[in-house]
Amino acid sequence: MEAEEVIDVHQVSTRFGEHVVHAGLDLTVRRAEIFALVGGSGSGKSTLLRQMVFLQQPDSGAIRVLGVDLQQLGDNPALALRQRWGVMFQHGGLFGSLTVKENIGLPLREHSDLPDALIDDIAAAKLALTGLAPEVGALYPAELSGGMMKRASLARALALDPELLFLDEPTAGLDPDSAGGVDELVRTLRDLFGLTIVVVTHDLDFLWQLADRVAVLADGKVQGVGSMAELALMNHPGIRALFDGPRARAAQQAADRPPPPRQTPTDSEAASKPR
Ligand code: ADP
Ligand code: MG
Repeated sequence: MEAEEVIDVHQVSTRFGEHVVHAGLDLTVRRAEIFALVGGSGSGKSTLLRQMVFLQQPDSGAIRVLGVDLQQLGDNPALALRQRWGVMFQHGGLFGSLTVKENIGLPLREHSDLPDALIDDIAAAKLALTGLAPEVGALYPAELSGGMMKRASLARALALDPELLFLDEPTAGLDPDSAGGVDELVRTLRDLFGLTIVVVTHDLDFLWQLADRVAVLADGKVQGVGSMAELALMNHPGIRALFDGPRARAAQQAADRPPPPRQTPTDSEAASKPR
C-alpha cells in the first residue's frame, strides 16, 4: 500500500522579476516521514517552504497540503489549516518583546479561548519537551544562546499540537553538540507523535541519520529524491555535491558505523532476578 501523501507540489513555477526560482517543480511528502530539502544557496528551498505554509503563492502550479488545494483556499479555511502545522523559520522568529513562555503561548492565545493558567501549563510542557529548563521560560529571546533559541522556536511551533512541522535550517550555526540535540529532538517528535516533518538543511549528519527521503533542488526542479543511499547512485552534479569531499565522506562513514552493542543486564541486575 502506498503511504498517504500529505503534501503534493505539482508543476510549481516561481519567479522574482526575471529570476526564475522554480521551473515546474514536483514533489510529494508522505505522512510521518522526515523529508529533507537540500540545494545550493538561492535554489529556492525557503521560498518553497513558505509556499507550502501558504505565506507565498507560486506563479503557477498547484500545492495540496493535508488534502486542501492552497490555491483555492478562502480566509476561514486557511486559518483552520494553519493550526494544523507548525513552522520554525531560519532565524527563529520569536518576538523580542515577549518572554520565551509568552512566545510559546502566543499561538494558543490567538487561536483558542483557553484560560491563561492552562496556556501557561501547556507552554511549560512544550518547553520541557524541547529540553529547556523551566527557568528559560522567563527569559527574553536576546538572552538565549543559539541552541536555546532554536529549541524555543521549536516549542512555539509545537504549541498547537500540529500534524506537520516545517523547519528551515534548524541546526545552522549551532555547535555540533547543540545540533545533535536538535537532531534527537526531531527524531523523537516523529517517533513519539507521528509528526510529518519537512526540513531544509545542509547538515550531512542529519541527512544520513534522520532523513527518510531527501529531495535535491537545482535549476528550478527536484533533480533527485530518495534516501541518501539511493541518491548516492545518481549522477546529477547537484546530487554529487552531497557525496564528494571530505566532510561528505565523514558523514557517510559515521552513518555506516554499526550501532553500539545491545546492553546486556549487569551482574547485579541478573543476580536480583528470581531463578
Ligand atoms: P534558499 O532558501 O534555497 O537559499 P530562497 O528560497 O530564499 O533560497 O531564494 C531563492 C532565490 O529567490 C534567491 O535568489 C533569492 O534572492 C530570491 N528571492 C527570494 N525571495 C525573494 C523576494 N521576496 N523578492 C525577490 N527575490 C527573492
Ligand atoms: Mg533559505
